[in-house]
Amino acid sequence: MNLILFGPPAAGKGTQAKRLVEEHGYVQLSTGDMLRAARASGSELGNRVAKIMDEGGLVSDEIVIDLIDDQLNQNKGAAGFIFDGFPRTLGQAKALDQLLESRGTKLDRVIRLVVDEDQLMARVTKRFEEQGRKDDNPATFAARLEKYNQDTAPLLPFYAERGILREVDGMASIETVTEGVEKALKETA
Ligand code: AMP
Repeated sequence: MNLILFGPPAAGKGTQAKRLVEEHGYVQLSTGDMLRAARASGSELGNRVAKIMDEGGLVSDEIVIDLIDDQLNQNKGAAGFIFDGFPRTLGQAKALDQLLESRGTKLDRVIRLVVDEDQLMARVTKRFEEQGRKDDNPATFAARLEKYNQDTAPLLPFYAERGILREVDGMASIETVTEGVEKALKETA
């Protein structure tokens, strides 16, 4: 099973991905987590992306595609992959199709978590207070949201056309959202 958890920042993608990892043993591939780890390690890559991330911009397609390619190689034989925060552009979406195809597999499902912007802002304000993630401050978060609306949301028709897109109400409790995600996984395309 290869699935994308799709949605704006703070929609709950990471939370739901972790639940799927526990339940099914899939591997979560979060480009945001990978980039934060690169920064924490002080690597050259980490230094290169720091400013863009802090400003709420998108790092280059090439960088994130390479990260995903590496992780697919390192997790050969996994029961499935959950793409979290990737793809964010049409270029990334097309590259993902190719990466999977070259490994004899394909994308099975795209699950969109639908959350309205007021709720996203409320969640991220809380996360900012609790975790202090620099890019969660209100001004940067607004920039991230704009990037999502501009560059990432347009991928929805790309996946809808293929019949693999499902929508889940992301405003419900974590448990209820998980039930919706599980149901969406079981449906045949
Ligand atoms: P996230 O935790 O997924 O919200 O990612 C945090 C930040 O990392 C984003 O605001 C971007 O600057 C960068 N980032 C993560 N994933 C991607 C991606 N697929 N494409 C471009 N930039 C990304």
